[in-house]
Amino acid sequence: MPLKETDPEIHSLIGKELQRQQDCIDLIASENYTPSSVLEATGSVLTNKYSEGYPGKRYYGGNEFIDAVETLAIERAKKLFGADHANVQPHSGSTANYCAYSALMEPGETLMGMELSQGGHLTHGSPVNFSGKAYKVASYSVDRNTEMLDYDQIRKQAMEQKPKVIVCGYTAYPRTVHFERFREIADACGAYLLADISHIAGLIAGGAHPSPSKYADVITTTTHKTLRGPRGAIIMCKADFAQKVDKAVFPGAQGGPLDHVTAAKAVCFHNAMRPDFREYAHQVVKNAKALADELNSQGLRLVSGGTDNHMVLVDLTSLGITGKDAQTVLERAGIICNRNTIPYDTQKPFVASGIRLGTPAMTTRGMKESEMKETASLLLKALRNRDSADALSSIKKEATALCSRFPIYGDYRV
Ligand SMILES: *Cc1c(COP(=O)(O)O)cnc(C)c1O
Repeated sequence: MPLKETDPEIHSLIGKELQRQQDCIDLIASENYTPSSVLEATGSVLTNKYSEGYPGKRYYGGNEFIDAVETLAIERAKKLFGADHANVQPHSGSTANYCAYSALMEPGETLMGMELSQGGHLTHGSPVNFSGKAYKVASYSVDRNTEMLDYDQIRKQAMEQKPKVIVCGYTAYPRTVHFERFREIADACGAYLLADISHIAGLIAGGAHPSPSKYADVITTTTHKTLRGPRGAIIMCKADFAQKVDKAVFPGAQGGPLDHVTAAKAVCFHNAMRPDFREYAHQVVKNAKALADELNSQGLRLVSGGTDNHMVLVDLTSLGITGKDAQTVLERAGIICNRNTIPYDTQKPFVASGIRLGTPAMTTRGMKESEMKETASLLLKALRNRDSADALSSIKKEATALCSRFPIYGDYRV
């Protein structure tokens, strides 16, 4: 029986969510619209299978086709990112980091990552997260003036604190990461280098950001952000770490893999190898620059002054509104984003002084630079007219009209 009949409540909510996605401008830097080929694989009968272990070494029978699916996903991931080894089973980016750390270090050893409030991820050593509880943490920051990575300072800190693992790659950093500089630092202080490319994986795959594959010992990434695949993650590594990484994932952290998601990851990597994905990745960056330029020219201060990637971090201090309130106002105007701390923020993380904007989702819809200008204007108009319910609802109509010119899924229905 179709979902519509067995569970009309859930069916209707999924339909409403699809309509919301269609009608809103999505500027969440970590979101994207996955193609229907990925939805189809994710919704497939592969969800029925148990396959603890790895291709050719399973604990359950009946894995002939699952082995072929996982092998394809592994081979494609290796080819796409130029890796010696890939584990495609991690359920999420956080789990992938958990596994990578346990492959590289023991509890109590030192992990060096970017501070959460400066742009690092929760799993890079935040005290409320397993990473901050299991490991000794040495957090680094961006430079107070440039708001960019200061490699000399990080090197100095690494030499003093002698971490076992250095993490580079961030959640809220709008600039290029120079992986070769991190390699030098890791070599100088005797650390392993972990590149967490969750945010920029699609840009790397499409040639719009340098790749860490030559430099990092281990690479983790989600598959659902710029890479535009299903919700999940993978770990890649140099051959020397392959066994440790595989053991850390299964049996170390997980039981059975999500075979339907593995299939969807394989589809995602296949898509990302095509020439149109390269074009997409470069357009994401062009769109972020266009968005940044327009916000800048209309008087907003951008963290680090601009962007090199898919993301723009806006300091709202001059408008006299917090990130939290801006997020709410923008949602009423049909523009979805998230509040974000800015480096050396004076507000608490739950309130924050900034918003984080990204172009991966709107670029997938086909929007280009001129629509980014339009989006920036709508966003500023909403923030400046935040006390007028009428203004916000009329901006929402404009946002929906803009979106209607760029359908996400054509004829796709829930
Ligand atoms: C999103 C993200 C993660 C975590 O991914 P989840 O799938 O949400 O657990 C880890 N690291 C970085 C840098 C991220 O941006």
